[in-house]
Amino acid sequence: MSNLDSDLFYSSEHFQAFFKESSQSLILKANPPHFKILAASDKYLKLTHKKREELISKNLFEVFPGSNADHEQFSVISSFKRVIDTKQKDELPVFKYEIFVNASGKYETFYWSNINEPIFDKKGNVAYIINTTSNVTAQIRKEQDLAKAKAQISEMEGEQALYEELAATNEEFLVANEELQQTQLILQQLNLELEERVTARTVELQKAQLEAENQRERLQRLFMEAPAGICMLSGPELTFTLINPLYQQFFLNRNLIGKPVLDALPEIKDQPIYDILKNVYLTGKTFEGRELLVPLARNESSSIEDRYFDFIYQAKYAHDGIIDGVMVFVNEVTHQVYTRKKIEEKEKAFGQMLETMVQISWTNDPTGVVNYYNQRWYDFTGLTYEETKEFGWRAAVHPDDLDRTLGRFQSAMQEGKLFEIETRLKHRDGTYRWHLSRAIPLRDEQDAITMWVGTATDIDEIKLLQQHREEFISIASHELKTPLTSLRGSLQILDRVIKKETDIPFIITQMVNSSNTHLKKVINLVNDLLSSTRIEQGQLTLNKTRFVISKMIDSCCDHIRLGGKYNLNMQGDLELEVFADEYKIDQVIVNFVNNAIKYAPESTEIILLITKEGENAKVSVQDFGSGISPEKIPHLFDRFFRAHNSGIQYSGLGLGLYISQQIIEKHGGQIGVESTLGEGSTFWFTIPIQ
Ligand code: ADP
Repeated sequence: MSNLDSDLFYSSEHFQAFFKESSQSLILKANPPHFKILAASDKYLKLTHKKREELISKNLFEVFPGSNADHEQFSVISSFKRVIDTKQKDELPVFKYEIFVNASGKYETFYWSNINEPIFDKKGNVAYIINTTSNVTAQIRKEQDLAKAKAQISEMEGEQALYEELAATNEEFLVANEELQQTQLILQQLNLELEERVTARTVELQKAQLEAENQRERLQRLFMEAPAGICMLSGPELTFTLINPLYQQFFLNRNLIGKPVLDALPEIKDQPIYDILKNVYLTGKTFEGRELLVPLARNESSSIEDRYFDFIYQAKYAHDGIIDGVMVFVNEVTHQVYTRKKIEEKEKAFGQMLETMVQISWTNDPTGVVNYYNQRWYDFTGLTYEETKEFGWRAAVHPDDLDRTLGRFQSAMQEGKLFEIETRLKHRDGTYRWHLSRAIPLRDEQDAITMWVGTATDIDEIKLLQQHREEFISIASHELKTPLTSLRGSLQILDRVIKKETDIPFIITQMVNSSNTHLKKVINLVNDLLSSTRIEQGQLTLNKTRFVISKMIDSCCDHIRLGGKYNLNMQGDLELEVFADEYKIDQVIVNFVNNAIKYAPESTEIILLITKEGENAKVSVQDFGSGISPEKIPHLFDRFFRAHNSGIQYSGLGLGLYISQQIIEKHGGQIGVESTLGEGSTFWFTIPIQ
């Protein structure tokens, strides 16, 4: 044999071409237990009903498994081993082997003879085996027929032999029958399994079809209802082949479908957008644009307007991977861009306005963090933005005012209401100046706070004036009090004298009475002034005792009842007792009742209502006068405020309600008024019962 010991050689085209024509043989690589097929002749393929690609590079025993495989393999393997061991040709006895025949579609039994010859490598070892197979089925069948004939002859030769033969045949028949039944059973089972599989497969197929249809529908819906305009431009001309309703809305009655983009929208010809579109078609690179200006006409007949769009251009690929169009996803943002620009302009103007203001000003974000100061702030404080941003402004507030300022600031932020406070701010030279700080919230259309704008106005001089006024009021009222007291004493003596004497002229009596009335008024005014300055100086102290409210009211309002003109109607809990400063609560009620008479003289009915509200006692005084206009109500309790200050009809300093409020607040209670123009007013207060 030859010394051709290379796989490459046997796999080479030349060898394969040559070997194709040879007898029914295989070249196998001897590498037990593997015997890779390197070449197969045409005749071998025909013989075994195989195709070349089914054999080449495969292990022989993988290609030919079978019912008797183990046994047959063993035989063939034994033969191969003998060849390798003995380095001699080896011939296998005839064996039976089933082969799948394509023509009949089933396995058929064949009989084979097999000769194996060695091919050696350089060292003289068996490297390859030539396996030549012959189909000897026909021969064997003939031999079998012959044997049968012979058997028939010998059958006639003896009863015994016949009997034995019959018995053997019968046994074979029984075995065969049993095998047949088993085979039938297996077949039935196989058939059942097959049917099941077919049914399952059909169901799967139907499901898949349904799913595909659903998906198509979903896509269609998505496309039609997408919150963006979508269109498909196809071919090098970029022709509109598909547009969704939203896309059409950008162009109202303009005809797009079926037209190349330049025919449909000629105005884009010289615009950058057209070059971008072409570029996506040519390069396949996706383009994303934000707020891009594209002058376009909305209608066939309307003029071109500046419009802004957010969009994505994405190349579309055909099955062969070549770009055949561009998908466009687009949203018009013209309105948003214009709104934003307007806001930016407004903000700019607002910023300029704040800069030109003489006051210090700033802005806070909705949470109260300062994010801007005007130049006045830096000029005044000498501090930088970094030092005072967010809550850094605390450094500029007088330490004594800081807690009060922070408290007021926090509650204003929480309630979203005006922030207002008088505080001392530190000048860059180290001195403090009084400022009136105010901040108001700005809100959007949904009423949400977008920012706060604050100003601080220098009121140091006003404060100084106020201080001087306080001092003046304090001194003047003190100075007035002494002569007024002696004047009252003199008038009282005069009064007594007049009452004793009988021949006093009437005019004198009248003048003394009138002097008494006017003196009382002046004394009341001076007392109010004194009280208010004391309150301002923090000198309001309480002297609490337990008393029944209705009794207190009875005695304090006696003078009104005695006058006879007014009907004081006391209602409610007449037993209610409180622990409070009786003299000061008396002062509050007298003030309410006097005001009702003074400002609602036409209302002769005055209702005094005493109720218990939880832990508090509530007293209200209701008149049916002309009422108070709503814009004045918030200021009624301010010091020196007078709602009826236009005429000289009503005397007063605007201190009564201010003093009342201070007294009630000192008690830990609340004070207020409800009033309707033309119907009357109800002034009320609450104080804790204990
Ligand atoms: P004064 O009476 O000294 O002016 P007050 O502080 O007692 O000061 O009252 C403040 C203002 O409230 C009054 O000037 C008056 O305009 C208004 N006012 C008070 N009570 C009534 C009332 N019952 N009806 C209408 N207006 C009233």
